[in-house]
Amino acid sequence: MTGSDEPTKANAEESAVETARRQLERAAAHLDVDEGTVERLRYPKDVYRVTIPVERDDGTTEMFTGYRAHHDSVRGPFKGGLRYHPDVTEDECVGLSMWMTWKCAVMDLPFGGAKGGVVVNPKELSAEEKERLTRRFAEELRPVIGPMKDIPAPDMGTDPQTMAWFMDAYSMQEGQTEPGVVTGKPPVVGGSYGREEAPGRSVGIITREAMKFYGWDPEETTVAVQGFGSVGANAARYLDDLGASIVAVSDVDGAIYDPDGLDTNDVEDHDETPGMVSGYDAPQSLSNEELLTLDVDILIPAAIGNVLTGENARDVNADMIVEGANGPTTSTADQIFEEREIPVIPDILANAGGVTVSYFEWLQDINRRSWRLERVNEELETEMLRAWNAVCEEFENRDVTWRDATYIVALSRIAEAHESRGLWP
Ligand code: GLU
Repeated sequence: MTGSDEPTKANAEESAVETARRQLERAAAHLDVDEGTVERLRYPKDVYRVTIPVERDDGTTEMFTGYRAHHDSVRGPFKGGLRYHPDVTEDECVGLSMWMTWKCAVMDLPFGGAKGGVVVNPKELSAEEKERLTRRFAEELRPVIGPMKDIPAPDMGTDPQTMAWFMDAYSMQEGQTEPGVVTGKPPVVGGSYGREEAPGRSVGIITREAMKFYGWDPEETTVAVQGFGSVGANAARYLDDLGASIVAVSDVDGAIYDPDGLDTNDVEDHDETPGMVSGYDAPQSLSNEELLTLDVDILIPAAIGNVLTGENARDVNADMIVEGANGPTTSTADQIFEEREIPVIPDILANAGGVTVSYFEWLQDINRRSWRLERVNEELETEMLRAWNAVCEEFENRDVTWRDATYIVALSRIAEAHESRGLWP
């Protein structure tokens, strides 16, 4: 259980770090950025690997491996999620930490990029085992995290309860309650209202703006969403409320399809009740692979990474892709979509509502002051529009893809910060 010998989809094509580096170089080619700065950004500042002994419910002890990658902190403390997944690798954490650096910069947040995780299938742990794993992981990372150093958050396989245990373990050892050490906590212990819905909500907001950009009427737009967890379900419901027709959604077991549009509030999401999506009484059921190639206006991959690959990119029938998951499109697939002139709105913009509300949560924790949900959603809307407008400007002024335009916005801010701080010692 501590590892998997199976080749992951990620390393079947290109590793997360290779993809992240390639994207960095593409953006750098458009900008007058110091070569030394680009070279620095190709590497993480630090990568921590810890071993986590956990007592199982049957009294045996099992060892797990955890990682935390710190990529860059030129604009502020490291920030990024912790995932519990059997495919977690050091390389994936580094690649994802690089994406967090760009994501925070696109949103103009005063944070750098980090990512971490534990090689574990959380579905095979009891709640008590997950709690012991989380507390020990927090303790192992304690020297390198903190409200002003590195602030973890939820990601795949972790949730507000995980963050509450993490915060408690850190606080007990520090001798004072430190809500600002992690974000994505339940509101009762310093979490922010609207944080859980935020990544999906931002996917909805950005999709809405992209439809406006291309002059599409939401009422006449069809959407397929892969993954009906927090990101997919909140994005689908947001777009459903806007009038779009959500014709297909899926979970790990399969997809449901209704050409007339599903009632997304009637389908329970994977986090509410696992298994409800594929068990839902819909006119048709499909496989996840079939969902990806449906003839729809917008495809939103919101499940896991590397689902759009060189193998299936030519079969995609959508007119636009909005990335809800982190890294759902491999470089080869990206190249194919560019050739086919299918716009791909990247993850680091579309799902950045999560880290943006994490920033609001951190501000609330530091100031010991809670914001109302209305304020959170209003400020999220403002920040998403600000980022969208900055990306649009690059997209319209340079003949580049949406991904390149987004990276150009991020990299120019990061490079400027590096150049003004300098290299020392
Ligand atoms: N895990 C989320 C992401 O990939 C959120 C990170 C955070 O809030 O720090 O953006």
